[in-house]
Amino acid sequence: MSQKLDLEFINLTKRYGATVAVDAISYHFATGTYACLLGPSGCGKSSTLRMIAGHETVSEGAVTLGGRDISHLPPAKRGTAMMFQNYALFPHLSVLDNVAFSLKMQGVETEKRHKRAGEMLELVDMSALSNRLPAQLSGGQQQRAALARALITKPDVLLLDEPLSALDPFLRIRMRAELKKLQRELGITFIHVTHGQDEALALADEIVVMNNAKIEQAGQTRSVFDAPKTAFVARFLGSHNVVKMPEGMVAIRSDALTLDTGESAKLPGTITNIEYQGTHVAVTAMVPGDQEVTALLSDHEFFDSPKEIGEAIGLGWEARAAQALAQ
Ligand code: ADP
Ligand code: MG
Repeated sequence: MSQKLDLEFINLTKRYGATVAVDAISYHFATGTYACLLGPSGCGKSSTLRMIAGHETVSEGAVTLGGRDISHLPPAKRGTAMMFQNYALFPHLSVLDNVAFSLKMQGVETEKRHKRAGEMLELVDMSALSNRLPAQLSGGQQQRAALARALITKPDVLLLDEPLSALDPFLRIRMRAELKKLQRELGITFIHVTHGQDEALALADEIVVMNNAKIEQAGQTRSVFDAPKTAFVARFLGSHNVVKMPEGMVAIRSDALTLDTGESAKLPGTITNIEYQGTHVAVTAMVPGDQEVTALLSDHEFFDSPKEIGEAIGLGWEARAAQALAQ
């Protein structure tokens, strides 16, 4: 049995002068969770991550790991490791020496640390490039080297701040699959900061949606996506329409909307845009209250009875597809 090393925030707060960057957030991550902190720029994601790592002081509250308060320990004593957005590799050191660097700082002898660095490079499939300098690597290879360097300390929690943002879209999707595979193999907790909803949905077991220094909603990724509690979460996750109905505001998934002309139509609308997306067609319509909603139809559904811009339609959905929103 591996030791339980749950990570917990207890009223965790970060202030920079008068700015409250993280406002008394509390959350519990079970050991081995792949969690994404998701939210718009400036909402406090990086500050949260840096407080876990010990690169930023905790203003109030605590971070605990395995029940132990780590808030005031030096970074190297926390059982965490950080992978930075720009990888922060030393340009004058070989890949092998970059990976071995933290062991060198700990006074581990050359042969031993090179052996261990070699194992880490094997883990990320970089053995063949161990003698290169960072400048001689592609973006994806630099990322793997940075991962190996973070993992060599055998952290219980790996912290990743926008780890894929420097990569082109194609590589980003490939590397995200590799990150997920690596996390499954290692079985340790990954806390991954991103402002990309696709990335969070693809990777996270649990998602923590942040807004204005607070946790807006958190939980298992699918339950958050299926049942957003606020308009902010529904809009930020995307693929949802936020609609003001006479009975209150609701979120309705775009793929749950149907074009109905009969009695089952709940809203009349006029088509304002039709976007072909290959497997799907996105039909946007203006509905009462000067609101636009988008229905995502399968290509068959659309092309079996194609519509045109300007056409009057009805929009329908199953009652259970509408999620009441708090605001
Ligand atoms: P995110 O990573 O979600 O973009 P950050 O945690 O970087 O958000 O920033 C949260 C807030 O704290 C922002 O308003 C930002 O301007 C502010 N902030 C971040 N770092 C500092 C700092 N070192 N000094 C002062 N303000 C900061
Ligand atoms: Mg950030």
